[in-house]
Amino acid sequence: MRDFRRESQQMLVERFGSVVRLIHGGRVFEALSDEEIGTLVELPQKTDAPIPSPREDGRQPGAPANPASIIVVEGLVRRFDGFTAVNRISFEVRAGEIFAFLGPNGAGKSTTIKMLTTLLEPSEGRILLDGNDPACNKDAVRKSFGIVFQDPSLDDDLTALENVRYHAVLYNVPKNTREAKIEELLKLVELWDRRNALVKTYSGGMKRRLEIARGLLHHPKILFLDEPTLGLDPQTRNHIWSYIRDVNRREGMTVFFTTHYMDEAERVADRIAIIDHGAIIATGSAGELMNRTSASSLEDAFIALTGSAIREEEVSAVDRMRARRRMFRRNR
Ligand code: ADP
Ligand code: MG
Repeated sequence: MRDFRRESQQMLVERFGSVVRLIHGGRVFEALSDEEIGTLVELPQKTDAPIPSPREDGRQPGAPANPASIIVVEGLVRRFDGFTAVNRISFEVRAGEIFAFLGPNGAGKSTTIKMLTTLLEPSEGRILLDGNDPACNKDAVRKSFGIVFQDPSLDDDLTALENVRYHAVLYNVPKNTREAKIEELLKLVELWDRRNALVKTYSGGMKRRLEIARGLLHHPKILFLDEPTLGLDPQTRNHIWSYIRDVNRREGMTVFFTTHYMDEAERVADRIAIIDHGAIIATGSAGELMNRTSASSLEDAFIALTGSAIREEEVSAVDRMRARRRMFRRNR
């Protein structure tokens, strides 16, 4: 990795496809092409320190990577036939931040993400995404983010490569870098060797990995990931998070994600909000949440904050399992 600080007295020019990047005095400027060199945009400053954890990189706990808020949520409510799934939540995510939205099953995480990404209308409240309101400015909002859904959204009748290529064209990934980028990402999630197989022959975990690769093809301002790593092994989860974190640090991409893996959130997130029964019950860095609950891990802090009662969805799964086991015994 290049040390920008050491080279800060010189001007460096880097190219990624048509994108031109100038590095001078420790600051990074970018133009989308040579023609647009007159309108250089300064990128948020990022260090190249290897995987700084939020508590060790010199930042104050919970301090913003960039003071500007790219997501603003105020008094957001969503009801389904009288049932309140999201109950007056407010929070902000700063540009360039990795933000974890954690909560037990049924807490309202996916419902919130759907409202943030124009897929669901709020019952009440206000959202600003990169300065735009999804309720009245859907198109502008849709240009500012990418998403990896909790539920699979791949075309089963296409091969992995076709799925990813289709997405790359849809999101205007530049032609000259497209194939290299696809190869890089399919290798990242270890699906390159299976690229020509139909997605319907893929296992659940393979589909998940393919969706992540697809979601990372273009680097939006904000990337939403709803339980992206569910069911993946620790090695794969590590690879994927290193990659996402690298894009976040290099390009200032804001990341908003949910997960049930607390170790992941503790390691990766700059800040965390915990939602339970539709309400936000705590926000802060992992360190702050641990201090507040005198816990030694985020997992312990999470349990201290949300209680150890098993949630409905999980109970019903356990009940189903018990019923199946009873039936199995009966039939023997
Ligand atoms: P999470 O993602 O945190 O597990 P969700 O946001 O998916 O939770 O769901 C929150 C609550 O809202 C749950 O009780 C769920 O059953 C309910 N819910 C979600 N979508 C709908 C819907 N379309 N109709 C009725 N209830 C829903
Ligand atoms: Mg969910």
